Amino acid sequence: MGLLSEGNPLSWAEIKLALQQIRTYGLDQLVHIFNKYKDRQKDPFLWGDETELTLVRFDHKNKTVRLLLKSHQLLPILNELNKKTDDKEYRITWHPEGCDFVMEGIPFQPYGSSSSYFNTVEANMRQRREQAQRILCEQTDCDYILSIAVFPRYGQGQYTYPPIEYGLPYSVEKSLCYPDSLLSPHHPRSKSLSTNISERRQSKVSVNIPIFKDSRTPSPFRDELFKDDPDIKDDHIHLDSSLAGLGCSCLQVTFQGESIKEAIHLYDQLLPLCPIMLCLSAACPIWRGYLSDIDCRWNILCEAIDARTAEEKKQTGFPSRYALAPLYLADKNKHLNDIDYSIDEYIITNLIDQGMPETLSRHYGHLFIHDPLVVLEESLHTVDDTTSYHFENINSHVWNSLRLKPPPLNDTLTGWRVEFRPMDIQISDFENAALVVFVALLTRVIIAYDLDLTIPISQVDENMDIAHYRDSVRREKFYFRYGTYTSQIFMNEIINGNKDFPGLVPLVRKYVHEREDMDENTRHTIEQYLLLISKRADGTLLTNASWIREFVLSHSSYKQDSVISEEIQYDLIWKMVQITNKHKKLSTN
Ligand code: ADP
Ligand code: MG
Ligand code: MG
Ligand code: MG
Ligand code: MG
Ligand code: MG
Repeated sequence: MGLLSEGNPLSWAEIKLALQQIRTYGLDQLVHIFNKYKDRQKDPFLWGDETELTLVRFDHKNKTVRLLLKSHQLLPILNELNKKTDDKEYRITWHPEGCDFVMEGIPFQPYGSSSSYFNTVEANMRQRREQAQRILCEQTDCDYILSIAVFPRYGQGQYTYPPIEYGLPYSVEKSLCYPDSLLSPHHPRSKSLSTNISERRQSKVSVNIPIFKDSRTPSPFRDELFKDDPDIKDDHIHLDSSLAGLGCSCLQVTFQGESIKEAIHLYDQLLPLCPIMLCLSAACPIWRGYLSDIDCRWNILCEAIDARTAEEKKQTGFPSRYALAPLYLADKNKHLNDIDYSIDEYIITNLIDQGMPETLSRHYGHLFIHDPLVVLEESLHTVDDTTSYHFENINSHVWNSLRLKPPPLNDTLTGWRVEFRPMDIQISDFENAALVVFVALLTRVIIAYDLDLTIPISQVDENMDIAHYRDSVRREKFYFRYGTYTSQIFMNEIINGNKDFPGLVPLVRKYVHEREDMDENTRHTIEQYLLLISKRADGTLLTNASWIREFVLSHSSYKQDSVISEEIQYDLIWKMVQITNKHKKLSTN
């Protein structure tokens, strides 16, 4: 959720009056940061992941499971607990998320350059889950913390504990199924964000997801709840709030470059990997209680968390602020920026005058077309050389698949970083660690072997859509480039290689083999992770999305009608509890 400093958020009307001023502050702050840090060199390879975890409550007697609105109670307890933990390896930093049933855990300190860190990620993730689970268990035995990319019946009927009222009067966005009380009560930003998105866009959120047509799915399928809504399409599941997106959970990884140059290089090489990793991480086949025809959450968020007005949507080149990273950053890749995005010429001219390279200036010229959505009253005019509030605020409220994070002004230890943001969160810590470590190793491979994976941005954009298709990992081809070789190939070829390309997993294996500072234990762990990635890509292991589909299709009470009943959801989520707590005794009594 980006910045979390507390204060009084301004209304959208108040922000609107200050927009020009805020943009000027933001530009000045960016110039200041750039001039201060453009020559910074030799920062170490630090990195770290973020996992968004979901709280649920089971009612075993009635075979139901609900989203548990409790993170505002758990977070203060967890923060106290971690203050008292001396061993920094086991300290966790917890953050609130937009919805009160989600919280985010990150390692207390970033991982370092030593290869042994590849072997600590999973333990750190397990530690997060266990810390929270222990506190939940002290209170009841029916609450669990899980990593669920999207809760199956999120937005369908009654789906929270405690139960909350829903319908028009309970939603600033006029949503029929996602009331405001889903938001974290102690997190004023998220309330302000959802209100201001709604006021800025001046129309209801309308997300339509193609339904998976099974043998008994009504034809055409119509979502009863929205039958009077002109926006709804036949054969689609309908979502009507930004909270439909805010409640989804992702898996992110941040990498520090040794300089701005290396950070930009990593950003550009990670850009074409966004759809590849999204596809491998696919975990979202069910939406609002129906089996859909897509596997991932990304495009749903792009539509749900979209603050554009109807006018802006019609303009070409004005994308949602939740979107694929729209541009490569290095001048040498500018010919690949083949989609003509809106830009603020004033910003670009100023930045170029200050010595910023043209393509990077263009990146910011585009970033600045998005208005800030949450501004704290206390920070509006607090502008001096020690703060970069307005720049950070603009940068952190554009949710692209990659984010370039410049060094903060108040922290001399932190350098230029790139955040990799597309992946769906996985059910188990093992899978989450595998994806995170794989991407981390890919950054090392990119630098060590000087890979060039860049393809035109329009092709990355197309790959992003393709990644969402049902079972894209086995059925679809993706644009891919390696050296002088560009083609549309299957995920299996990208990951495991073909006659023209060695494959990403074999490249990582080679790198691991050549790395001298690595113990046997770490090599073994990495190999298990590589096997998971490799086998997902060759189709012998299922993605979470395919596994969830198979679970539903083979459930004894499933009626071939695309409906995920309370009972199916209960059994599915209970199965997830067993997977994530596989060494513990569990009881449903
Ligand atoms: P945000 O929510 O803004 O993306 P978070 O603070 O939640 O940021 O997460 C940032 C991630 O970056 C964490 O995993 C953290 O360990 C990691 N991190 C912190 N400092 C650095 C650094 N200097 N270089 C790389 N990664 C870092
Ligand atoms: Mg988060
Ligand atoms: Mg975070
Ligand atoms: Mg989220
Ligand atoms: Mg993040
Ligand atoms: Mg698109």
